Amino acid sequence: MSFNQFNLDSRLNTAIKRAGFYKPTPIQTSAIPIALAGHDLIGTAQTGTGKTAAFVLPILHKLLNNPGKRTRALIITPTRELAEQIHQTIGIFSSGTNIRSVAIYGGVGAAPQIEALHRGVEIIVACPGRLLDHIQNKHAKLGTVEVLVLDEADRMLDMGFLPDIKRILRHVPKKRQTMLYSATFPKEIEQLASHTLYKPKRVAIGLVRPAYTVDHTLFPVPQHLKSRLLIKLLDQTETKSILIFTRTKHRAQNLAKKIKRTKYKVTSLHGDRTQGQRRAALNGFKQGRYQIMVATDIAARGLDIDGISHVINYDMPGTADAYIHRIGRTGRAQRTGEAFTFVTPDDQALVQKIEKIMKQKLPKKTLSDFDYVVPKPKNQQRTQNRRPRPSSSRRYNR
Ligand code: AMP
Repeated sequence: MSFNQFNLDSRLNTAIKRAGFYKPTPIQTSAIPIALAGHDLIGTAQTGTGKTAAFVLPILHKLLNNPGKRTRALIITPTRELAEQIHQTIGIFSSGTNIRSVAIYGGVGAAPQIEALHRGVEIIVACPGRLLDHIQNKHAKLGTVEVLVLDEADRMLDMGFLPDIKRILRHVPKKRQTMLYSATFPKEIEQLASHTLYKPKRVAIGLVRPAYTVDHTLFPVPQHLKSRLLIKLLDQTETKSILIFTRTKHRAQNLAKKIKRTKYKVTSLHGDRTQGQRRAALNGFKQGRYQIMVATDIAARGLDIDGISHVINYDMPGTADAYIHRIGRTGRAQRTGEAFTFVTPDDQALVQKIEKIMKQKLPKKTLSDFDYVVPKPKNQQRTQNRRPRPSSSRRYNR
């Protein structure tokens, strides 16, 4: 199986080779021919499977095959980082062509985006809120869009973007090709799909099962000893690049501060940081200036970072699904990685759910030289006993 069999434009084949892709991934093998044939598509693919190229390559092929200078493809995605990442992937595959794309998202100045929109772009990659602003101010015109991609649709639902998406859809022509990617299909996404897609073909790869290139270990620990255990574990483990997840942005901030006091170089990625700080954190982590990044789910969603050796769930995520997404940050594209998860007795039900999805019991480990019976300091007793809130209300706190 090779990329040649798709009969993509030769400029794309050159770019694919340059990107070092030798063999299509399973989602690419299934989705690219369907997308090239012009069908609507519903894709179930876990992160790290290569789904970005699975929709970007057919879009570029279509645009190159039948050139035209107008906005022809719109990709809607939940987070700024994802928008930036997809925009960069388009840049890699379209270099040497005159296809232009722009990434549209909030938290940064609108002027460069407005300029790019007025100069003209063939592809818009956007987060819903800022795109709506540009539509309302008549900077973005979607009347010529031929291909629409809704990426990570379930996450957009979680983040409360569904009404915005419905508003955006009113500005996109009815006659178009639509591809919807989602890891899960709650009722609202099925409904959105039934209103938005026409006779879609379904491709499901890797369903909601974590990458099998990842080893999972649970570390039972009382809540108040988590940071101590973390430092001990870091000291004892051979790691390259570590992504640590906390439940809230405040916990991310506090944990990053604690780690900073040790020998490790650390940064953090969460909703309280400005877009500039988020970009600096991400680039610093990608380039190895920081060995550790502490993040919340929302900030780290879908990130494509090479070479993460360890994902540490300092706090258990809210759902089994979120666990899968976090773990998808390591073991990407057939590399191996390790997932460490700190569990308190409160997390037991969720552990069982994850084990059911993964069809395996997750091994538990304790460190022989760690004191697990240090009592909880009095001033931590109220804050640390709090149970995680349900995911719908938590989104405001990331
Ligand atoms: P994605 O799921 O789109 O975020 O892709 C995950 C990672 O896999 C990215 O780093 C891609 O560059 C990489 N990737 C995607 N497709 C291939 C391929 N066919 N061969 C090698 N790496 C790939």
